[in-house]
Amino acid sequence: MKKMKELIVSAIDSGTVIDHIPAKSVMQVVRILGLEDFENTILIGTNFDSKKLEKKGIIKVKGKFFKPEIINKIALVAPQATLTIIENYDVKDKTVVEVPEDIIGLVKCANPKCISNHEEITTEFKVVNKTNGLKLKCHFCEKTFGQEDMRIV
Ligand SMILES: [Zn+2]
Repeated sequence: MKKMKELIVSAIDSGTVIDHIPAKSVMQVVRILGLEDFENTILIGTNFDSKKLEKKGIIKVKGKFFKPEIINKIALVAPQATLTIIENYDVKDKTVVEVPEDIIGLVKCANPKCISNHEEITTEFKVVNKTNGLKLKCHFCEKTFGQEDMRIV
């Protein structure tokens, strides 16, 4: 089975592999990282069977290494994602994404009455819960909402 996965999403010589993305969040990760505009080779695989998740996706970006503050943004939609840095077909480093303390921009407030939904201001949230599903507290209306109500800008 392992062999087959490797065939579907082939290896890259150097770059970043983002694994353990919930299958439903793969396209959101693509958007958050701005991969639509990349000219590097990108391999995207999804709906693989996973022990940790129901179905998972993998993204491999050839010749690209992301800054932690960029990569941690994907924790919003893929809190269990792992990040592997590949150099010369070797694993250089493997880490798990970290949910940031504050989220600036990126997410829309779930409260329709919130000022941030009516004026041109950058949204701002405090992460008040990281385990058992993310919970964000809006800086402007002080409402707290969970992952299911999160809308990525
Ligand atoms: Zn709000």
